[in-house]
Amino acid sequence: MRKQYSCQVPVEIMRANNLSPLLKRNPMSIPTVVAFHYTLKDKDGTTIDSSVGGDPLFVMLGKGHIVKGLDDVLPGMNVGDKDTIIVAPDNGYGPVNTELRLKVGKAQFPPETNLKEGDQFQGSPEPGSPVFTVMKIEGDDVFIDGNHPLAGVELHFDIEVMVKRPAEPEELAHGHAHGPEGHKH
Ligand SMILES: [Zn+2]
Repeated sequence: MRKQYSCQVPVEIMRANNLSPLLKRNPMSIPTVVAFHYTLKDKDGTTIDSSVGGDPLFVMLGKGHIVKGLDDVLPGMNVGDKDTIIVAPDNGYGPVNTELRLKVGKAQFPPETNLKEGDQFQGSPEPGSPVFTVMKIEGDDVFIDGNHPLAGVELHFDIEVMVKRPAEPEELAHGHAHGPEGHKH
């Protein structure tokens, strides 16, 4: 899947801004990129998601690109380290917000909507507004939930660190990590 929008800062522009020498004077400010394999389970041991068998996940640390519970722990792990990291909801996808569980009328949806349980829609067009899932339909009542599916879930991550290195200039310019073949999105 290509996300061109995030990759439109040419490296030449960054070099023209003389960013690299600045960072060399202050190497501590260069973010770390790690690649890790993960298997995510809930506290009953049921697997929710896993990278094993595919590419590891490349992440620039300290940018909030992953849940805080992992972003806090990964800087202390090295290549080859394996660990199980337990992340409470507050450092994961947040607690369940019952105010995002609503009952609405079928009439609030466009008449042509063939509403089914499991359908998802955004509550408003603003970026970052919650995605609601249709949980249940009873007559004219539609029960919707705007919580992240993993809200309130204690996350158990089995982690294996595969790569750890400073971010490269192109990654710094883009503000995110690139995969094993460099520019890959
Ligand atoms: Zn990029």
